[in-house]
Amino acid sequence: MLVVMSRHATREEIDAVVAAIQGKGCTARPIPGGERTAIGILNNKGAMDASYFLAFPGVKDAIPVTRPYKLVSREFQPKGTIVKVGDVAIGNGHFCLIAGPCAVESEEQALTIARKVQKAGAKLFRGGAFKPRTSPYSFQGLGEKGLRILARVREDTGLPVVTEALDHEIFDLVEEYADVVQIGARNMQNYSLLRRAGRSHKPILLKRGLSATIEEWLMAAEYILEGGNTQVILCERGVRTFAHHSRNTLDLSAVCVVSKESHLPVIVDPSHAAGRRDQVIPLSRAAVAVGAHGLMVEVHHAPEEALSDGAQSLYPEQFELLCSQIQTIYNAFQPAHPVERAGD
Ligand code: PEP
Ligand code: MN
Repeated sequence: MLVVMSRHATREEIDAVVAAIQGKGCTARPIPGGERTAIGILNNKGAMDASYFLAFPGVKDAIPVTRPYKLVSREFQPKGTIVKVGDVAIGNGHFCLIAGPCAVESEEQALTIARKVQKAGAKLFRGGAFKPRTSPYSFQGLGEKGLRILARVREDTGLPVVTEALDHEIFDLVEEYADVVQIGARNMQNYSLLRRAGRSHKPILLKRGLSATIEEWLMAAEYILEGGNTQVILCERGVRTFAHHSRNTLDLSAVCVVSKESHLPVIVDPSHAAGRRDQVIPLSRAAVAVGAHGLMVEVHHAPEEALSDGAQSLYPEQFELLCSQIQTIYNAFQPAHPVERAGD
């Protein structure tokens, strides 16, 4: 349930509602809004009685939350969240391009690619230092050395960096270096990792699991918000289907559904969805048209020599083309009122 306070509610009236919620053995989570405060009720065992809260002074409304996810839902927070990464904003009308190689391979490789993607329009740089690989014999990433290279890229270009924390144990180290910590598809339901991300002061990029439903994905995000970290970006990266013409099947309808269900920004990773270079640009165009708040694209200056995911990595010139094409599409489809769009 969500208790919505009136615009003129006093501090004391808000505190009284919080105390009443706690008195019932539940958790009260005040959500300050621009105009009024709403108080979310968490950890309730059964349905709550709205009339009980409506009797409190300063209470305007008590709305039952019908979804299993609460903090991430639009019912709880109608206005879209804007995730801030330094000067870069993502969500609620702010579009962001993230690009870089699958894995950091060397300082020269990372810097070369970073300069090229920055010139084309990327606002954040991506690159894995700890890689989740299907085979234990494949390149696993440079580890901490890779993180130091990412710090060097940031220093040199000013681009904030996104990189993956593979497990709970490595999270502290990754958090020290990263501007955004990525939780990969294989880890979407790694609950100790999600809880650790909830305690982080860095934004989290949460990828959709390999065959996760939207509800499971949003429940995973709920763990992070429940822990206190509200800076979460959702990333659709394709799901497993019977199709073999691409590595995964990009589920663009997920972008529409998530934007309606949740206030969190949702971006698209066409690279891991496609698994092949020739599909990345068309899928990116479609993702922008459908209203994604950003794209995360793999780019490599010499993909044939890449240590991972070379087949899906764009050449820098292709990334430039992608940037100019999506600009046109974004201009054509940009919602005038992003908040209203998502709720309509
Ligand atoms: C990645 O972005 O580097 C990655 C491994 O993606 P995913 O978790 O979506 O497979
Ligand atoms: Mn990759």
